[in-house]
Parts: sequence; structure tokens; C-alpha cells
Amino acid sequence: MFSVLGRIFKTGCLTEKLPLHDQDVVQLGEVCRKEIARVFGSSMAIRMVDAGSCNGCELEMHALNNSFHDIERFGIHFVASPRHADLLLVTGPVSRHMQAALKGTYDATPEPKLVIAMGDCAVDGGEFGISYASCGAVAGVIPVDAVIPGCPPTPLQLLQGILELLGRCPGR
Ligand code: SF4
Repeated sequence: MFSVLGRIFKTGCLTEKLPLHDQDVVQLGEVCRKEIARVFGSSMAIRMVDAGSCNGCELEMHALNNSFHDIERFGIHFVASPRHADLLLVTGPVSRHMQAALKGTYDATPEPKLVIAMGDCAVDGGEFGISYASCGAVAGVIPVDAVIPGCPPTPLQLLQGILELLGRCPGR
């Protein structure tokens, strides 16, 4: 045990320090926090739905939650159930296999509900379009309130898209 402790002491901490927060993210996040307070009162819950994505959009979405962007500090949380969600964030062209599941998720989300189609595939079908396996754009399956184009959109573009939609929502 002492040899292990000695080795830990000798090696020290190898974990890299976190970079300083990007000021664009901080500024945008603070504006988002104010808009969320105006529209929802305190925080906003997002249910993410992968309707057939290549996973590129999900990686950018996950980045919003990492320790660099850390969007929870702005009052934005990802939740596991549409029943807890204020906003559905949908990626991918809607595969035929996911069509009913996406519709069911939309129906299970309480009113008033917001929907954002994220990424070129969700906006207009992107590379995949409409085929025997793909319904194309999210708007062809459920009502969409806002779109965030890009392949994939960056975390900053995601925050901008969310902020733009919140700006169009009435206050409580
Ligand atoms: S928009 Fe691009 S990254 Fe997103 S699901 Fe489509 S191909 Fe993948």
C-alpha cells in the first residue's frame, strides 16, 4: 500500500486543466438563462430524440453537456422522458422505423411543447431525403417550431437556435 501511495505522490496529477470558458458560450448561456426564466420560470427540460441520425449531431449535443460548455449552469437540462420535457430536440432524417416512436414521443410531451429539428437531415432530409427507409424532414412527421441547420451544428449554434426560439415564446 505504501508503495502505491509513494507512486501516486511521485507521479502527481496527470489530468489536464480545463481550458478557460469560451466567452461566447458564457455570454450566450447567460442570455439563455434569462429567457428561460421569462418563459418557464426557472429551468428548461430537453428530451433528445434520435430519429435516424448518423450520430454526428448527437456528439455535438453531448458536447453541450460536457464540462467545457456545461449548459446545466444556464438552467438547461436533458431528461430521460418526454413526460418531463419542455422541448423536444430531434435529430436525423426520420427513419420509417422511428416514425411511430417519434409521433408517440411528441404525443407524450405535455403542452405547451416546443420542437426543434437539429441538423440538415432533420431540417430537410439532408443526404438521405425521402425513400423506402426514410420519411425525410422531422416536419413531415410532427409539428416543428424551429430548425437549426448544419451538418452537424456546433454547440454554439445549438444555443443560438434555442435562444432564437425562446425569444419568440410568450412569457409566463
Ligand atoms: S445533419 Fe449531418 S451530422 Fe447530423 S445526422 Fe445528418 S449527416 Fe449526421
